[in-house]
Amino acid sequence: MTVGLFQTNLLHQYEKLAAIRFGMGMMLFRYDKQMAHSSCADLFRFAHQPVSLIEKLWAPIVIGTLNLPPEKASAQVFLHTMRLIFLQDKKHSSLLFPKVGLSDLLINPALDYLSSHGCGIKYGQTIQTIKAGNNLVYVDTGKGNDVFDALIFAGNYHDVSFLPEEIARTIPEIKYSPITNAYFWVDKKIVGLPICGFIGTSLEWCFTKPTQYAAELLACTKSAADDIIKKDNDEITDIFWKDIKRSFPNSDAKLLRSVIIKEKRATPLLDAALQLHRPKTKSIIPNFYLAGDLVQNGLPMTIEGAVRNGQKAAHEVLKNID
Ligand SMILES: Cc1cc2nc3c(=O)[nH]c(=O)nc-3n(C[C@H](O)[C@H](O)[C@H](O)COP(=O)(O)OP(=O)(O)OC[C@H]3O[C@@H](n4cnc5c(N)ncnc54)[C@H](O)[C@@H]3O)c2cc1C
Repeated sequence: MTVGLFQTNLLHQYEKLAAIRFGMGMMLFRYDKQMAHSSCADLFRFAHQPVSLIEKLWAPIVIGTLNLPPEKASAQVFLHTMRLIFLQDKKHSSLLFPKVGLSDLLINPALDYLSSHGCGIKYGQTIQTIKAGNNLVYVDTGKGNDVFDALIFAGNYHDVSFLPEEIARTIPEIKYSPITNAYFWVDKKIVGLPICGFIGTSLEWCFTKPTQYAAELLACTKSAADDIIKKDNDEITDIFWKDIKRSFPNSDAKLLRSVIIKEKRATPLLDAALQLHRPKTKSIIPNFYLAGDLVQNGLPMTIEGAVRNGQKAAHEVLKNID
């Protein structure tokens, strides 16, 4: 990260030095204790980070990783994530672009792995209740009952009414932070880079690729989209397209087609309060484990967090099986 910081001409010398000072503080765990229950905005004030540096560097990283503005995002999660990305081997901060969709990348290999290891997979069944007793766990799907020696629950946590009461009680209430995505097909290349970050605009990131019908397809993202999600699709198209034209003033590219996708429940609102109350892998019932992205691992709620929690829960089960 230090090399990148010194190379950029986006930051003044004093901003680069402040960022490096902050990085050193992170490396030495200087902020963790005092900022455990604080927001990222509090953290940046505490670490004397210049406002201009927050706007140009820290806020885009916070919004991109936590889908929240610095005023709301948990400082603890931010610090942990930054250390994992930037303060380890270089490969941890590499951007990888998959050549296939997420189903082929993650889902199908996972299903193949489960099938080849003798795991049964049931589709189209909604769990109605899960009960625990006599060192066993009972799952009722309305189409039949299953009994297990141990169970890892990795469902959604916004409705936990079907979980055993003593576990449901430990799950915090979850609020959500929205994301708005815009897909723009244009007649001439305008961005010309596979990925582009924007500062001082409504949209934040743009991923591009050529298609059969357009010179460039732009996939534009606005995270922490509380304000923009309330607007209608035409207005959002107009705002984002103006942002792009303003950022590339020499281009005369025209918009051929646009699609706006609003995701109200894109990610749980991971503020300091939720971070403090995320449940742990081991529940209050000895043979009942929790997984999924909500479970505490210090990370934002993403696929990576869910995978890590699944692995951890599986190891716990294996440790406790006779
Ligand atoms: C629009 C959007 C974009 C995202 N983009 C990214 C991204 O780019 N990168 C990233 O890392 N993360 C992204 N995320 C977050 C990511 O999807 C989640 O972090 C991840 O899917 C969490 O995995 P999970 O296994 O905990 O839960 P889920 O993937 O939500 O899986 C829970 C499963 O449990 C099932 N279930 C729930 N209740 C029951 C029941 N009663 N009976 C039976 N089954 C039940 C659900 O149907 C679901 O299949 C995005 C999320 C959204 C909504």
